[in-house]
Amino acid sequence: MKYYGGIEAGGTKMICAVMNEDGVLAERFECPTTTPEETMPKLIHFFNSYTIESLGIGCFGPIDVHKSSSTYGHILQTPKKAWRNFDFLGSFQKAFSVETVFTTDVNAAAYGEMISGTATNNRNFLYITIGTGIGVGVIINREIYHGFTHPEAGHLLIRKHADDHFSGSCPNHHDCLEGLASGPAIEARFKKKAFDLYEDDPFWTIEAYYLAQAVYNYALTVSPECVIFGGGVSKQRQLLPLIQKELEQLNMGYIALPDHKSFLRH
Ligand code: ADP
Ligand code: ZN
Repeated sequence: MKYYGGIEAGGTKMICAVMNEDGVLAERFECPTTTPEETMPKLIHFFNSYTIESLGIGCFGPIDVHKSSSTYGHILQTPKKAWRNFDFLGSFQKAFSVETVFTTDVNAAAYGEMISGTATNNRNFLYITIGTGIGVGVIINREIYHGFTHPEAGHLLIRKHADDHFSGSCPNHHDCLEGLASGPAIEARFKKKAFDLYEDDPFWTIEAYYLAQAVYNYALTVSPECVIFGGGVSKQRQLLPLIQKELEQLNMGYIALPDHKSFLRH
């Protein structure tokens, strides 16, 4: 039996899994993301129980995805200081001489949607997670897209809503998309958890206004067949119809957007 390894490296926890050649999950392992010295041996120990054929890594960013770069596979300027400039991919390559793929957590999620999720019939699409941060994974021609680096489309610069007086929570840009619409941005406005807001709170229209601007900009630039929403804040099921409404207002009939039921997905 052949086995394949996968890692979702998150800022809070690491999730590792081994799948067999039939696509069945053989084993899963989870541990908190503390320091490389403490966390890495646990991950390597887990995969050591199997002879894996390959290892796919989806990692919190920013990361170096450029194969010709001297720091390929490293974690870059993350606020998690212990992991800054850490050679994440290289540590696994030293332990296992197998084929590896290294990309962002959101690109890996997008790829998963294509292999066995809601986008199995799509060639070009985006996955957006609205959680602690906002991240976007891009699939073009059924492959993960990297340019000079991985897309950072969660930090789009967007127009402020006239009724929104929050200055924004992004440490770099303040009022970028993530700074205005991520879970912590919502929580900084209301001094309570985003899931404690009522479903019909007027704020969700403002949230939808921001997310619709992002989706519209993605629609104009990469023309995705669909945009898949993930992450904690996307659990607010009223959001997609609100985003759809805002999207139509922004578009003003300019481009023929795909049918909304297939365009915006959970
Ligand atoms: P992470 O981004 O850390 O991987 P999540 O995607 O769960 O984790 O995002 C966490 C954020 O989403 C937090 O700010 C949390 O308050 C918010 N969140 C989680 N569940 C909901 C919900 N049902 N409605 C609105 N916000 C939520
Ligand atoms: Zn930003």
